[in-house]
Amino acid sequence: MIDYHVHTSLCNHANGTMDQYIQNAIAAGLTEICFLDHLTLHESGKRLSMTPDYVPFYYQSARQLAHTYKNHIRIKVGLEVDYDPANADAVKRIIAPFDFDVIGGSVHFIDKINIVSSKDTEARENECIDVICRDYLLLLDEMIDNMDVDIICHLDIIKKFGRRPSAEFEKKFDELLSKISYKGLTIELNTSGYNHKANEFYPNTSLLKKCHEKNIRMTIGSDAHQPQQVARYFDKAINLLVETGYCYVSAFTRRKLHEISLTTSNHEILKIQNGGAS
Ligand SMILES: [Zn+2]
Ligand SMILES: [Zn+2]
Repeated sequence: MIDYHVHTSLCNHANGTMDQYIQNAIAAGLTEICFLDHLTLHESGKRLSMTPDYVPFYYQSARQLAHTYKNHIRIKVGLEVDYDPANADAVKRIIAPFDFDVIGGSVHFIDKINIVSSKDTEARENECIDVICRDYLLLLDEMIDNMDVDIICHLDIIKKFGRRPSAEFEKKFDELLSKISYKGLTIELNTSGYNHKANEFYPNTSLLKKCHEKNIRMTIGSDAHQPQQVARYFDKAINLLVETGYCYVSAFTRRKLHEISLTTSNHEILKIQNGGAS
């Protein structure tokens, strides 16, 4: 199996070296791990991200480790980029010189508010979650139009602290999923939600079913911020994907999609691009 969302200490709020994440991935029996560390230029998020001058070091270190561990595990390197309209072009310029395997897109900030921080969210406790969700979805929609990303990270992260938007947002998520499907993007089943108040995966089971109905490909990621979190809740996640009707998860090599079987015992690559989402 693969884990397509792993951080490192370079982002200043995760622990562990790349090497430690890789060792844990091998111990968990994974065949592939993808570093997807933060790149955020947003004023309120800079300190939670590697700085742009660390990107070459990050990229080269991962490539070097891919060579070192080539007989044990495949190692990929990508970035989790924050969508922030003011800095979108600057992010594109930073990424351009590198041959990343995959780019994940996330929305963590609405104006100055960090929606994944408990401190910031408490400050907005009296504000209607629907207002926050409306702004979140507008930014996500804009990101899909403006950024060249392969994976949409933690689609319904808005529920992280347990507050959920009202039912009318189902339609809005549905419209967004149609766009994601049309663009051929992959969504991740992010397993970190079981360690948050949300107490479920991102996206939730009902959205996951809609993803399948709309032929949207899925990948799987632990969003590990500590080496021991690699592959967390993966048994549960793989069962859910299979129950939902998925047979494959997406993997990427230098921005090209492969599909990895969920159902064969060795989980090796069976399909190269062009196959329908399954
Ligand atoms: Zn994130
Ligand atoms: Zn992450």
